Formats: sequence, structure tokens, C-alpha cells
Amino acid sequence: MVMQIQKKKLLGTAAVLLIAAVLIVGTVAVVWMQSVQPEISVCIDAGHGAHDSGATYGTRLEKDDNLRLALSVREKLEAKNIKVYMTREDDTFLSLDERCRVANKKKCTLFVALHRNSAESGNGVEMWIQSTPTDTDWALAENMLNALSEAGISKARGVKTGYAKNADGNYYVNAHTDMPSCLAEIGFVTSEQDNELFDANLDAYAEAIADGIEKTLRDMGKLTTEADEK
Ligand SMILES: [Zn+2]
Repeated sequence: MVMQIQKKKLLGTAAVLLIAAVLIVGTVAVVWMQSVQPEISVCIDAGHGAHDSGATYGTRLEKDDNLRLALSVREKLEAKNIKVYMTREDDTFLSLDERCRVANKKKCTLFVALHRNSAESGNGVEMWIQSTPTDTDWALAENMLNALSEAGISKARGVKTGYAKNADGNYYVNAHTDMPSCLAEIGFVTSEQDNELFDANLDAYAEAIADGIEKTLRDMGKLTTEADEK
């Protein structure tokens, strides 16, 4: 009788230990999976900010257009269940290095900088990628430009490599981000036609940029079935 009670107690203790072990192993496995499978996310960088207005045209400041568009792109991406990190969400200043650090620290999957162009004459949208681009840099730029072309821009000026003033150079954010990246010039702030289109189509532009990003993530095989179905 005494032996039987002891046996039961031992079995009970063994069962509790087994359950505890399963829970611990399960928790460790989940934490490990999360650490080896980084989340899919996109860094959206609204160019300029605060004392750095970017290009200007009368009272129109590039930094404001960039921010308006960036906030709208975030909304569209989040509606697609895509995680977004912003370099800035208001009229603050960050150095180019700080912008890259946001994306690199969060290990973002893609980086997109939003700017507006300026020149004495000229209009249209162009995409800048690094001077020795990867296939994904090209795809990201092309997917966004194709979608924007359908949204109503004055002209598609194409995907360009390097730096506007030096073909061998690079825009800082393209050179110093660890992930595929693109700097998008969404029309000329110095063009009345581009400004009118920008204001009228802001929502469609944001949707097009988000669509281009989503397509790129899908091509990279980064989207889960859940996001695919949405
Ligand atoms: Zn700019």
C-alpha cells in the first residue's frame, strides 16, 4: 500500500516535470524561430525635414510634400499588413546617416526614400538606385515606376543608377543601407504641372508606391500566405 502511494507520487512528479520541460522547449523554440526569421518590414524615408527644406518653389517646400506622401504610403502598406518603419513622422531633421541607421538597425527588408526633384526646366518621375544595383534594386524601382505611370504622372523618366551629378557616385542612402533600396523623385517641385498632379493624385501615388513595394516583396518570396490572401 505504502509502495503504491509512493509510486503514484513519483508518477505525478514525473508528469509535472515532463509538462514543464515541454513548455520550456516550446518557448525556446518560438524565441529561436523569431530570431532566425526576421520580420518583413519596409523603411520609408521622407527626405529632408526641419531647417532642411529640400527643393523649394515659392512657398512650396519639398520636405512637406515628401512627408505627406510618406505618411500616406505608410497607411497603404499597413493596410496590406506590411510592417513599416519611418525615419521621420513629422517635421524633424535627421542626418543621412541616421536615416540609414533606422533601416539597418531594424533589419528592414526594403528601403524607399521619397523626394521631389528640382531644375530650371523638366518634369516627370525618376527612380535612383545604386551604381552597381542588385536585381532586387532594379525590381523595386521598376515596380514602383510602372505603378506610378498608371496612377497619372507627367512623364516616366526611367530608372537611373548612381548619382545625378556623378555616374560613379551614389545617393548616400542607397550606398549605406544594408537592404535593397531606391530613392524616388516624385516629380519636380519646380514644375507647375507636376505639382498639380502631385496634389490631385497624392492618394493614388501612395497606393502605387505601396503596390510596387508589395509586388517586390512577393517576387522576393517574402510575403506570407496570410498577406498574399489579403
Ligand atoms: Zn530631396
